[in-house]
Amino acid sequence: IPVEDFDLVIFGGTGDLARRKILPGLFHRYLAGQIPPEARIVGAARSEMDAEGYRAFTREALQEFAPNSCKDGGQVEAFLAMLSYVAIDARGDGGWKELAGLMRPDVVQAFYFSVAPALFGDLAERLHGHGIATEASRIVVEKPFGRDLESARQLNRGLAEYFTEEQIYRIDHYLGKETVQNLMAVRFGNVLFEPLWNAQFVDHIQVTVAETVGVGGRGEYYDKSGAMRDMVQNHLMQLLCLIAMEPPSKFDPDAVRDEKLKVIRALDPVAPEDIVRGQYRAGEDGPSYLEEVGDPRSTTESFIALKVHVANWRWNGTPFYLRTGKRLRARMSEIVVVFKEPPHSIFGDDAGRSANILTIRLQPDEGMTLQVTIKEPGPGGMRLIDVPLDMSFAEALGESGNQMPDAYERLIMDVVRGNQTLFMRGDEVEAAWAWTDPLIAGWEARRDKPQAYHPGTNGPEDSLMLLHRDGRRWRDLE
Ligand code: NAD
Repeated sequence: IPVEDFDLVIFGGTGDLARRKILPGLFHRYLAGQIPPEARIVGAARSEMDAEGYRAFTREALQEFAPNSCKDGGQVEAFLAMLSYVAIDARGDGGWKELAGLMRPDVVQAFYFSVAPALFGDLAERLHGHGIATEASRIVVEKPFGRDLESARQLNRGLAEYFTEEQIYRIDHYLGKETVQNLMAVRFGNVLFEPLWNAQFVDHIQVTVAETVGVGGRGEYYDKSGAMRDMVQNHLMQLLCLIAMEPPSKFDPDAVRDEKLKVIRALDPVAPEDIVRGQYRAGEDGPSYLEEVGDPRSTTESFIALKVHVANWRWNGTPFYLRTGKRLRARMSEIVVVFKEPPHSIFGDDAGRSANILTIRLQPDEGMTLQVTIKEPGPGGMRLIDVPLDMSFAEALGESGNQMPDAYERLIMDVVRGNQTLFMRGDEVEAAWAWTDPLIAGWEARRDKPQAYHPGTNGPEDSLMLLHRDGRRWRDLE
């Protein structure tokens, strides 16, 4: 279904994110017929260039990041014709008049702040001061939304001076993934899962976001943040919320976000022995973390594993194990819900026993599998085996996983539609920092040093022990 006509301004339109995600995402939606041809996309950044220059820049970005979609040159050119460009410094006064002249008053207006968060306030102020933003405008802001509670509050206050909460779309691209939304469909669209979705039937839950790459050229930025701030406070926390939340009364932005907020507020502080931090060593194919960030004394973590408790009626006693890190064995993001074993095996211990496991995979192949126990076929007596019930919609829809819309595509279309369900509300972000800050302060006060781990492995030994001592084990990274 096509969205309404819109003007979208991408501040930071010449940046890495615009090249890799935003522009290719818009192009894919254009090809899908979702973007009306009258819509306007305006790149805005510091570099001096004209509209023709920006089209050439975008053409290259599409060829690099959406090569399979560029076969029809006519379509590429038709999309490029929607683009224009204004040179603007977020802290300067040039270019704003020109931008004002490009905006149409009677269509949806969205401003994507794909720039460093330090510039959010400047952009908000100038959009307002130059009379460009209206009460109906929407702004999209990128991560990192602060580095602690105080800075997140400041960002929220800076935006709130000029925009209401209903106008602000804080991106967490994990929420735009098809599987993440499917998690909600599976939970709340079936009768099978919800009655079992609690501490009585769920043994534990694992959330893994593993990367094979190191910090590379982002070392300087990353070293100030670390895995807790860069990944757990936002992405893993959002996933945790969607798994743990109570059913919202309807699928509506505030109903969903209210329930997520309650989960964050119910999180217990994490005991020091339930936190494992790691740093990757040098490997055959790359330098160590410390070499990459250029500081031999850095104690920032490139890996973290946590055992977390949601202290409420539903989840009392069911741990959530979270882990994320760089330079691990595989690139893989998944949520695993491990159900308890049947209370009694009528087949005897020789038949084998196992648990139902629901795996929700976010990447590389988005999909869901439910492990169920059946009888091993054949005359060998009653022996039990596990088989996967595959609920991968990519196949069900007859599409290859690669053609599934990228998270950014969906989220940008949601901005145009005015649907905030998959965006973080200001109070959610602040609550997440309020939980994160004391954990970080705790290990800083203890002068905790991350444990070194070999690249290409599952991370530090202590992370395995975190589950092992509870009689559990992480799912293999594969
Ligand atoms: P980048 O450094 O590649 O690009 C920054 C862009 O901002 C450029 O277009 C630059 O011209 C513009 N810019 C810089 N200073 C400016 C100023 N004073 N006035 C106007 N424009 C200015 O950065 P990026 O990787 O594209 O990231 C942009 C934002 O998105 C950052 O907040 C980043 O944390 C976030 N983000 C990026 C990624 C990613 O994959 N690149 C992922 C998630 C979030």
